Amino acid sequence: MIPVQEHAERILDALTPLPPRATSLLEAQGCVLAADVTALVPLPGFDNSAMDGYAVRSADVAALLSGDGIDDADRVPIVLPVAGDIAAGDRRELTVLPGHAYRIMTGAPLPAGADVIVPVELTDGGTSTEITESTAPSEGDVTRVEIRATDGVGRHIRRAGEDVQAGDVVLRAGTRLGPRQLAVAAAVGYGELHVHPRPKVVCLSTGDELVAPGTVPGFGEVVDSNSLMLVAALREAGFDAHLVSGVRDTEEAVMVALAEQLDHADALVTTGGVSMGAYDAVKAALSQLGTVRFDQVAMQPGKPQGFGTLCGEGERRVPIFTLPGNPVSALVSFEVFVAPALRLLSGRSPEAGARIRARVLDGWRSTAGKVQFVRGIVELVDLADDPASGEGPTIRATVRSAGGQGSHVLHALSAANALVVVPAHVEQVHPGDVLECRALGAGWTTDG
Ligand code: AMP
Ligand code: MG
Repeated sequence: MIPVQEHAERILDALTPLPPRATSLLEAQGCVLAADVTALVPLPGFDNSAMDGYAVRSADVAALLSGDGIDDADRVPIVLPVAGDIAAGDRRELTVLPGHAYRIMTGAPLPAGADVIVPVELTDGGTSTEITESTAPSEGDVTRVEIRATDGVGRHIRRAGEDVQAGDVVLRAGTRLGPRQLAVAAAVGYGELHVHPRPKVVCLSTGDELVAPGTVPGFGEVVDSNSLMLVAALREAGFDAHLVSGVRDTEEAVMVALAEQLDHADALVTTGGVSMGAYDAVKAALSQLGTVRFDQVAMQPGKPQGFGTLCGEGERRVPIFTLPGNPVSALVSFEVFVAPALRLLSGRSPEAGARIRARVLDGWRSTAGKVQFVRGIVELVDLADDPASGEGPTIRATVRSAGGQGSHVLHALSAANALVVVPAHVEQVHPGDVLECRALGAGWTTDG
């Protein structure tokens, strides 16, 4: 038997991130940047208004600018002719003439000369009908505006480049792209980015007993829940996944199925057929190649593991993970070995994924010499209202076993939100012990 750590390291040592390629923004969601992103344009791109209101020159509203000791209520309103409207999207380069105003909308370019935006709330809204003979007629609906107060020079003006200057690095290589990162990349001028692609993973389940989900299994038949579960787990973890169900338990069937999938996969995951039985076809077939190694790993569940590479098109080495067939063993193996490896292929940290140290509520036995991955339920308890919690952290994590721990026990697995890691030397877990828990899926977040 080899330690869990050794098998995990052997896998990671054999892998490097997938070569980067230009990818459209939405396609790049969840991917990791392979190069810094430098702003092609400043943000904002031009001086613009942060409010719906009127753009004026400070000299024309000097009597309304505060700081002169006069009470706002005592100020005399100023009426200015309105030269027209500037809406968001207006491409004209306008100038506000002395003694005039433009009605301006949020996001619209500031006319040259304007240094005060008067929010519409501080005016009569342009309803003033007083006529001033000296002005040209307005191009918009509003011809006059009565300004009653101002918020001061420069207020409500978003200056070009105040957020980002052209040439600034807005995202560093290694950043994982979520909605907010994609937004800034788009805003500074990009339609595609250089990222490590999301690995495409093919999951193959093997076993003569398997029937497709939706089938009522007859005597001796078992519904193939593994390939479905793994494809769902892969998608949840941000990878592309494809399912091949119920490969027969013969070496030939296994080799044909793998050969068919090799060219469009960045990684292959099989379940079943790697134990010591007479019909363990995956092990029998792949052992002969010399590039896939089978080990007994000191863990429970998930002892029989295989990992190696197959040769794809153009000498491309495609990693293959052969997981045991018991559903719980398959999922634990996925979490412990496959997910970290795929994160590495994606350019992410293999160690990602939420972990928390939680206090055990119940307790259970564990086999000496093997790391036990117990399906558990982590709960976060907010101690904020507890006077005994003092000034310290107010969140405490507890964990209890999710139920039956046999490697075929799907029901408890479905109730679990964490894998509780019991170190190899521990033979008995007691209530009150503190153990590391790794999130399954969304883990212990409140939206399930
Ligand atoms: P194996 O690893 O092939 O010896 O299978 C171990 C156990 O897991 C057997 O009880 C199988 O019936 C069961 N099993 C194997 N593959 C699957 C699968 N895809 N879905 C559900 N159970 C499976
Ligand atoms: Mg089998």
